[in-house]
Amino acid sequence: MNIEYDIKSSESWSPVIYLKDNIPLWIKTYYPRAYKRNELLIKKGCLKKIIIIPDKTPFSQKPTGVFTKRIETDLSIGTIYINEVYLSYLWLCCCSIYINWYEIIHKPLENGYYGLNIFKINPRAEELVQLGLNHFKLASTFLTSTPTWPDYFLSPSIQNGLIAEDYHGISNGIFLASISFQILHEIGHIEKNHGFARYLAFGSKNKYAELSQLEYKADDYAIRKVGSKRSSETTVFGVIISLCCDLFFYKNTNRQEHPDILERIEKTLKRIISDNNSELYAITCIALRLWDITYSHNFNWDENVGDTYKNLISGIAWQ
Ligand SMILES: [Zn+2]
Repeated sequence: MNIEYDIKSSESWSPVIYLKDNIPLWIKTYYPRAYKRNELLIKKGCLKKIIIIPDKTPFSQKPTGVFTKRIETDLSIGTIYINEVYLSYLWLCCCSIYINWYEIIHKPLENGYYGLNIFKINPRAEELVQLGLNHFKLASTFLTSTPTWPDYFLSPSIQNGLIAEDYHGISNGIFLASISFQILHEIGHIEKNHGFARYLAFGSKNKYAELSQLEYKADDYAIRKVGSKRSSETTVFGVIISLCCDLFFYKNTNRQEHPDILERIEKTLKRIISDNNSELYAITCIALRLWDITYSHNFNWDENVGDTYKNLISGIAWQ
């Protein structure tokens, strides 16, 4: 890929270094259509750089005007910026959500038991479920303090292959699907010339509705591009977790310029999961449950909404 992946950091503090070196390789391997499209954009001069910012400052402590977002595109110069701390945060979210999904949703189902098991995630849960919860709690510290990665936590850098039959390897695969979806979302903004549309929207009476539409269009673009591996569970995990990660910023960010994140998630779920009974709907439930416990939101989980995870999502009362 001709995109200049400008890896400025040579420090080895972040276990995500291994993974970010593989981002271009991964896009080329798994999403050849997106890869070709990116090359075309470069020829046209629309996309110039994807830069990973080696920035250890927690998101919450950044002064305004400084790079404060996880992933951001400067449409005028065709550059996508990705915050390195965000990559670590994202990996931990992928890892914690996957562990809990596997342990409390998938395993029981393999043994013929289908139940709304997400309440098994709690501070006194069994060891592996606890491990997932603790990884999520570690991720949450990345938002408010200088991140450190304790030795006894799982780390992506241990793994050499992209996919392996273990939590590290699978989390790595999900992480890459997730970051790829987010890069494709940004490329969607570039390719559809949203810079100009955004400029027009700011002068409009329906500013927020119009800006929301641009986000849905960029999501649509990204979903279509990752669609070449549509059947892959890894991709579904990656896309859903990408959006759920935004949920965790919900209370810390001014979201006015973006559509309601739950609405974005629900639209996306409908597009990428065809079976209403799918256990993949539980990914969102787990994300919400982890978020609920970690930040003591005390959501009202309506267990009587039916017997599917899809219904459980719509039954959650939250503000
Ligand atoms: Zn966007």
